[in-house]
Amino acid sequence: MAGREAPEGEIAVRVDVLGVAFDNVTKKEAVDRAMALLEEDGPHLAATPNPEMVQRAGKDPEFAQVLSAAQLVIPDGIGIVWAARILKRPLKGRVPGIDFASALMEQMARTGKRLFLLGAAPAKDGQPSVAEQAAANLQKACPGLVICGTHDGYFKKDGPVVRQIRDARADVVFVCLGFPRQEKWIAAHGGETGARLLIGLGGSLDVFAGRVKRAPAWFQNHGLEWFYRLASQPSRAGRILKIAPFLLKALGARLRGG
Ligand code: UDP
Repeated sequence: MAGREAPEGEIAVRVDVLGVAFDNVTKKEAVDRAMALLEEDGPHLAATPNPEMVQRAGKDPEFAQVLSAAQLVIPDGIGIVWAARILKRPLKGRVPGIDFASALMEQMARTGKRLFLLGAAPAKDGQPSVAEQAAANLQKACPGLVICGTHDGYFKKDGPVVRQIRDARADVVFVCLGFPRQEKWIAAHGGETGARLLIGLGGSLDVFAGRVKRAPAWFQNHGLEWFYRLASQPSRAGRILKIAPFLLKALGARLRGG
């Protein structure tokens, strides 16, 4: 499906990038859409796929199905924007999941919506869990934000976690378990939590907790966050460099007229 320019206020049709359909939205449009979803009965899933996730969806039909059922699919990462351009279906731009989450939290603080943080490493050696540390930092950074609970991402049983979220009366859950587990978890358990919007956000809690640093603004603004990560976290090189075959696949699809 090719994209089209949407009139102001209307969400554009989805743009297909190698089998995953993305909403062609700016960050503000994504947040407006998320806030609108909070007014409807849930659960709703918001996903923030990067090239690696699109590649995975190509090999994992269950994951592809979950992504296609999501109410909001945001292009996280410059690789998605480049691939869309190669496919001649340009997107308005990238919307990193973590930026979307930050802007959404500002709106949630204004409207009294309740946020639950799920995922990342548990408490260790007297240090709080990543989610607890993230909650403390976010409450400082975003006055008025209601964080109604946290849970680490290394649990064996889903039931107690689901109950904790439901008892906390969460409106929104940031689910940070790594893909594709987080999206599949939302699809399987989102309804039981009672939350209206559950968002798969990968490693965002590590960043909010201050345990992983994001690239400086210059790298982000020039579409070079991936390069910064490559230099600062060489252990992830294999993952980051998967962007090359992804773009070649987009080129192949374009040459075949797909
Ligand atoms: N994680 C988790 N439970 C698990 C495996 C991973 O909570 O069983 C967390 C991990 O601690 C990290 C996040 O999931 O905070 C995944 O981060 P990554 O940057 O790898 O995100 P991805 O690229 O997978 O979206």
